[in-house]
Amino acid sequence: MDWKTKANEINDGWDAAREKREKGEREESERKENEKREKENKKKLRTLARKFKCNICRTPSKKPRDYKSHDAWGGGYENSTDWNTPGDLEKCRSCLKWMCKKHIHKRICKTCAEKL
Ligand SMILES: [Zn+2]
Ligand SMILES: [Zn+2]
Repeated sequence: MDWKTKANEINDGWDAAREKREKGEREESERKENEKREKENKKKLRTLARKFKCNICRTPSKKPRDYKSHDAWGGGYENSTDWNTPGDLEKCRSCLKWMCKKHIHKRICKTCAEKL
C-alpha cells in the first residue's frame, strides 16, 4: 500500500472517530436537556396543581393549556404551552372560578347554576 492510500485510511479513521465522539456528545447533551426539561415540567405541573383547583371538589389541574401560536419566523404555527392556564379546568363565566369538567356546564358552574 502506498503512503497516500495509507494516509487516506488514517484520515478516514480519524474522521469516523471524531464523528462518533461528536455524536456521543450530542446525544449526551440532548439527554441532559430532556432531563432538565422534564424536571422543569414536573415543577411547573406542581405549581399548576397548587394554583388551579376545581372550586367545588378541589380536583387540582393536571395539565396546562396547549395552544397554537404564530411562530416568530412567519411560517406556520407552533405548539405552545400556557402554564398560567389549566388545560383541564374551565372558568365559570359568572363567578370566574376554575371548575373541573364535572362541575361546569356551558361555562356555568354548579354553584352558580343552582344560585342564579
Ligand atoms: Zn369539580
Ligand atoms: Zn360559578
